[in-house]
Amino acid sequence: MNGKKYTEIKECRICGSKNLVSYLDLGDMPLVNRLIVEEEIPKEEKFPLEVLFCKDCFLSQLSVVVNPSVLFRNYVYRSSISDSFKKHCKELAEELNENILKKGELVMDIASNDGCLLVPFKERMNKVLGIDPAINLAKIANESGIETIPEFWDESLAKKILEKYGPAKIITAFNVFAHVNDIHSFVKGVKILLSRDGYFIIEVPHLYNLIRKTEFDTVYHEHLSYILVKPIERLIHQHGMRIAKVKKFDIHGGSIRLYIENKDKLDTSDGSTQEVIQEEEKSGLYDINTYMNLRKDVDILKKNLISKIQELKKQGNTIFAFGASAKGNILLNYCGIDKTSINYIFDDTPEKQGKLAPGIHIPIIPGKDLLKKKPDYLLLLCWNFAEEVMSKTKDYKEQGGKYILPVPNLKII
Ligand SMILES: [Zn+2]
Repeated sequence: MNGKKYTEIKECRICGSKNLVSYLDLGDMPLVNRLIVEEEIPKEEKFPLEVLFCKDCFLSQLSVVVNPSVLFRNYVYRSSISDSFKKHCKELAEELNENILKKGELVMDIASNDGCLLVPFKERMNKVLGIDPAINLAKIANESGIETIPEFWDESLAKKILEKYGPAKIITAFNVFAHVNDIHSFVKGVKILLSRDGYFIIEVPHLYNLIRKTEFDTVYHEHLSYILVKPIERLIHQHGMRIAKVKKFDIHGGSIRLYIENKDKLDTSDGSTQEVIQEEEKSGLYDINTYMNLRKDVDILKKNLISKIQELKKQGNTIFAFGASAKGNILLNYCGIDKTSINYIFDDTPEKQGKLAPGIHIPIIPGKDLLKKKPDYLLLLCWNFAEEVMSKTKDYKEQGGKYILPVPNLKII
């Protein structure tokens, strides 16, 4: 990137086509994972946030790539804050230990965050190794006993790891694949390190949900690609592998998990990949017209949310928000909702508390203060964990508090 803050995308990251069409333009946006303090407000930067559709392989991708060293070196999202993600990882460790993993085989997680995914594997005596470029998170992981290398994943790192640790039976990449610009180098690295009978397991939000449930707030600068199975199948084939299985999960607003294996090993495909590809096609996801409708849905959502908040404020209600997440910050920034409507955002991540949400500069305070502050309404920004948050805060509800759910359709509970 030669020190430039961002580069424009002219060719599709998977197939190299120049046949790219814009379908969602959120305007200039701050980096929504970059929480700031008061003194940083004057130098806060914004970057274009626009999504393009490749008419040749059907991958959706952002129109710009912000320099990764600007984005990822000090990341504040912590996986282990979410109980549902912990449970999800535990179930994965159970499944793989029952069916695939033998004692002592290496499980490696790319973008391992604070080590959350690997903890249940380590408990089952699997050999584990994490990779994460966020120095602060790698430190937390190492201190908790999950060995973690603080680097970006690529081919040269794969070669070094192979030499030192040997091949990996399982390589996981959860909620990271969509964040990668040079996706070919990423897959080449996996190919180098994966044992012949191993599995590369990716989990990503499925674009189906973004389009069908208006989850436009999952569009942010780290999230470079918006994934369908079809374009990934094309990518994976080019590198001598195949997608053996696809599973769907509700986590993160609707995710897919792909089990990828080497082409030259016994084929364990179960037909699910082709089923999902057919569903994608039937849902119009290979057709640009489907995408053009998203913009209308996003505008309706914005209008409804703004008018509801104005109405509640006029009646004299206090409104706070819950979850200073990337998607929450996109929603607030896009709708222009700032301190004049929302006094505070509660968040349980200690690193976020005392900071300001990017762009709209609403202060972030600990979730445990909810009953003390007792706002009339609580806007749930982390709608993908809405049930978890509502059950954790049921005392608030019992004392008369109300929730506002913004996505996919405005709901008051
Ligand atoms: Zn393409």
